[in-house]
Amino acid sequence: MIHAHANTPCSPQDTEAFLGVAEDIAAARGQRMTRIRRKVLQLLIEASEPAKAYDLLERLDGEGSAKPPTIYRALDFLQELGLAHKIESLNAYVACGHASHRHSAIFLICENCGRAEELHSVTTTDALQAETEAAGFKLARAVIEARGLCRTCAA
Ligand SMILES: [Zn+2]
Ligand SMILES: [Zn+2]
Ligand SMILES: [Zn+2]
Repeated sequence: MIHAHANTPCSPQDTEAFLGVAEDIAAARGQRMTRIRRKVLQLLIEASEPAKAYDLLERLDGEGSAKPPTIYRALDFLQELGLAHKIESLNAYVACGHASHRHSAIFLICENCGRAEELHSVTTTDALQAETEAAGFKLARAVIEARGLCRTCAA
């Protein structure tokens, strides 16, 4: 079961589809989804909330030689390919369902229930690109962390 995100018209429909998209993106960059990378991404996709590296490590039980550096390398790889983001304020990782389009990651973090949902952002990404460029800054990537109340908690 994939965690239901709102605002994500471009999210793959299920875990298998998501992993298929990931394989294609990796291949297009001349990279490979190794067993461990695939497994880490799968855990992120199936997680109901942002996952910490040590939680992932625990859930990788049975994958044999998985050690913290292995997890961090897999997470770095997934971030480089835009398949996952790190939410610094939570020190946790989330699978990205928007890898099909260029974007800056914008997370809506609920201060009541702790859920973090990635916003499908197009306008903000364009504005950020234009305004950083105007400042002479060459933007590589950005993760914006917006805090407040989610739809459920605000109701
Ligand atoms: Zn994203
Ligand atoms: Zn909430
Ligand atoms: Zn999107």
